[in-house]
Amino acid sequence: MKLFKKRPFIPIDIKPQKQTQLDEPMVPDGMWAQCPSCKKAIYNKDLGKEQICPNCGYNFRIDAFERIGLIVDENSFEEWDKGLANTNPMEFPAYSEKIERLQEETGLDEAVVTGRATINKQACVLAVMDARFIMGSMGTVVGEKITRAFEKATELQLPVVIFTASGGARMQEGILSLMQMAKISAAVAKHSEAGLLYVAVLTDPTTGGVSASFAMQGDIILAEPQALIGFAGRRVIEQTINEELPEDFQRAESLLEHGFIDKIVPRPELKTTLGLILTLHAPKPAKAGGNN
Ligand SMILES: [Zn+2]
Repeated sequence: MKLFKKRPFIPIDIKPQKQTQLDEPMVPDGMWAQCPSCKKAIYNKDLGKEQICPNCGYNFRIDAFERIGLIVDENSFEEWDKGLANTNPMEFPAYSEKIERLQEETGLDEAVVTGRATINKQACVLAVMDARFIMGSMGTVVGEKITRAFEKATELQLPVVIFTASGGARMQEGILSLMQMAKISAAVAKHSEAGLLYVAVLTDPTTGGVSASFAMQGDIILAEPQALIGFAGRRVIEQTINEELPEDFQRAESLLEHGFIDKIVPRPELKTTLGLILTLHAPKPAKAGGNN
């Protein structure tokens, strides 16, 4: 029967060495990055110092110290509370080891860096979260560092600028991480009662307990383009309400349209914008002999 007749093939001799070369194309590590927003492969050098997708304008996630380098005046940053120890309060299995490994990998002690600096010559207290450290999640150390930053800012009569980047409360610390929301909020309130300015800059991602507390308590709330900002995850909401959500759901642009944030500022304009906001809100120098 012709149906089962073997088809003639021409044998091609492939040397094992050549085959390996075909299987493993030689692309050096870290040369290309995929944009999380438009999914295009971007040549790393094209992202530039500010790490922005040349195709869609998405602002890539950056490290806390890269951020500080882009925002503050040169050599003006003085770090506070470095080395505050995490004690694994719930004795969560393998948590201490995870923290130690991340400290080695990132050079950070926890998911937030705090301190004071000047931005376009305006003094302020700064807190910058880093998503590399367990998704920038908020545990007791993160809560304590941000609370101290607000308390010190109140004492020094300085404005606070916070860059959020967080998946929310840290589950390895259970209820203690949720308590940080109230603790920080109380410090934010005292800072506010002292008539001081707090600017929150929401970067990708700002979710969970962080968005449900200090991220949304800023006097002025800025965000980076296309940053994911929300409380519960998209899938959880879709399953709960049994409806498909719009494409731009929980994106900075949608939040701006609905009045949750004040302005979307692309990364190259952030320093100037923050400098301007701080200058406009700086306390007026007391006039000698004035009536006010
Ligand atoms: Zn893109």
